Order: sequence, then C-alpha cells, then structure tokens
Amino acid sequence: MTASLVARLPRVRGNYTASAPLKDLVWFRAAGPADVLFRPADLGDLRQFMANRPADIPVTVIGVGSNLLIRDGGIEGVVIRLPAAFGRIEALAESRIRAGAAALDAAVARTAADAGVAGLEFLRGIPGTIGGALTMDAGCYGTEIKDVFVEARAINAHGEILTLSGAEMDFRYRHSGPQNVIYIDAVLQGKPGNPESIRARMEELVAQRESTQPVRSKTGGSTFTNPPGQKAWQLIDRSGCRGLMHGAAQVSEKHCNFLINTGEASASDIEALGEEVRARVKAKFGIQLEWEIKRIGRPQA
Ligand SMILES: Cc1cc2nc3c(=O)[nH]c(=O)nc-3n(C[C@H](O)[C@H](O)[C@H](O)COP(=O)(O)OP(=O)(O)OC[C@H]3O[C@@H](n4cnc5c(N)ncnc54)[C@H](O)[C@@H]3O)c2cc1C
Repeated sequence: MTASLVARLPRVRGNYTASAPLKDLVWFRAAGPADVLFRPADLGDLRQFMANRPADIPVTVIGVGSNLLIRDGGIEGVVIRLPAAFGRIEALAESRIRAGAAALDAAVARTAADAGVAGLEFLRGIPGTIGGALTMDAGCYGTEIKDVFVEARAINAHGEILTLSGAEMDFRYRHSGPQNVIYIDAVLQGKPGNPESIRARMEELVAQRESTQPVRSKTGGSTFTNPPGQKAWQLIDRSGCRGLMHGAAQVSEKHCNFLINTGEASASDIEALGEEVRARVKAKFGIQLEWEIKRIGRPQA
C-alpha cells in the first residue's frame, strides 16, 4: 500500500522511504511508522514536491520530535523531516540571527553567543528545532519566540514561499496561527552583548534545567499547558500522580508535568497515562488539563 503511495508522488531529488520507522526520530522513542518519509534535498526540491503532490495525500512535517506523541498506528501520507541543508545559522547586522527551520535551538543560542548577540540564551535549553519553536511559540524562563521574532519564511500548500510577520504568526501561549505551512527559516532579534557573559548565562540556565527536569529521559517535555493562574505540575502532584505508571510509561518523579518512557512503553501507554492524569486532576480540582504535547497519527489497528 505504501509502495503504491510512493508511485503517486512527484519525482524528487531527495529520498522517499516507504513504511519508515519514526521511533528513533522522536524523544519518547515510541511511535508508529510514516506511510512515507520524505527527506527533501533542498528548498527547490521541497517546493517542487509541495507544488506537484496529489492533493488527497496528507503531509505532516516534524522537527526532532521533542513535543510529539506519534500514535502506534503511524502517520497517514507523507511525513517530511527537513535535513541539515535547512539548518544554516548566520549572524546578520543589528544583532539579528537568521536560522534555518532544521537548526537546533541550542545551536542558534551558541551561534548568537559567539556573535555577541544577547537575548537568545533561552533557546539553549529547548531541545527542538526552529521550525518546532515557531509552531509552539517555544520559550522558557520568561522569554518566548514571540519576544525575539522578526519574520519567518514558510512554504504553503502550493509550494509558494511566504514571508510572515509577527502579526501573521499570531503567537499565543505554546501556539501560533499559521496552519499547513512548512517553515524554512526565521530572523530573530537580539541585542549587543558580551560573548563570555552570554555563555555564562546559558550555562546557568542549563544547570537550572538539569536539576529540575528529567532532560536525559525519553520524554516529550511539559505534557500539559498551565491552566490560567495555575501550574500544571502542582495540580498533577496534588492529585497523587507523581510516579504513576501505565505499562512502562511513568509520570516523572522529578517533574510531574513530564511523562517518561522508562523502557519499551508504547505511544498508547503514554497517551493512556496522560489521560489518567487528566481524569484525576479533573476529579480532584474540576480543572481540565489541555495537552501541550501534540498527539498525531492513527491508534494501533
Ligand atoms: C526535555 C524537554 C524539555 C523541553 N523544554 C521546553 C521548554 O522549556 N519550553 C518549550 O517551549 N518547550 C519545551 N520542550 C518542548 C519542545 O522542545 C518544543 O515544543 C520544541 O519547540 C519542539 O520542537 P521540535 O523540533 O522537536 O518539533 P516537533 O516536536 O517535531 O514538532 C512540534 C510541532 O512543530 C511542527 N513543526 C516542526 N517543524 C516544523 C516546520 N519546519 N514547519 C512547520 N511545522 C513544524 C510539527 O508539525 C508539530 O506540530 C521540551 C521538550 C523536552 C523533551
């Protein structure tokens, strides 16, 4: 079935892989396969794919899967993962940085530090890509992408390149407006700073994070958004969920808004655990937690 899907796709210079395992491409190390995984050779190749693909075949783009729960039945259609060609990072004039969508946030922070650009230190501790950060309005310790955003370029469903302003991005808490676009790069605004002090600040943030979050575990980061005026982790803790398990999935003992895969948990174990946490918090406090982690794909048939 997936091989016949490949036959319907446009000719490209990059690679198509049918029934591609995604498990090793996501932080949870639990995921079903992609019907087809597409790694475009470059921007021209990606545009040509988008412009010529059959409209009935769904397309999903993923970053490094640090905010994704891909269900065990896998993802229908084509999954696109941008290769290193989309990861270029360069310092521009006026303390600006241009970063490709596949660039890791941490690498962007390091390049900014080397160039004497302050204000992007927060990116050092977020384990995703710039594409994921734009989608999620990623942030920590009081700064989010929206605070440093100048503009982004994206490809739309017809293969056209759009330049998006801050207003068009419509950033909200862990959310941005544009749908069905593939980000290709972004320009971020910092301010002049001293590389040594920027690096010292980044190291502080990393140490703070390592002491409070299970950053070396198979996890998806914060599972639920904080309800207005509340901290999700506190509600989860007070509902008696710290350490709760479902199969090999566990509510982290270290930070109970993190779910971790302690071994061979399936995506369905992780999702079921999350739903159990939601039910317990709802029963205890009457508050419905909302998933921050994006859950995509088909349940196991
Ligand atoms: C240990 C840990 C700590 C974390 N700490 C934080 C934190 O402090 N703050 C925070 O905000 N988040 C945090 N996260 C969550 C996660 O790192 C961020 O949401 C990150 O921005 C996701 O980036 P990604 O590349 O992994 O995207 P993915 O998880 O692969 O995808 C997330 C979403 O982005 C979309 N996407 C990815 N790339 C593109 C693209 N090029 N074009 C269009 N859409 C795209 C995907 O379709 C999906 O909807 C943490 C996660 C972990 C595992």
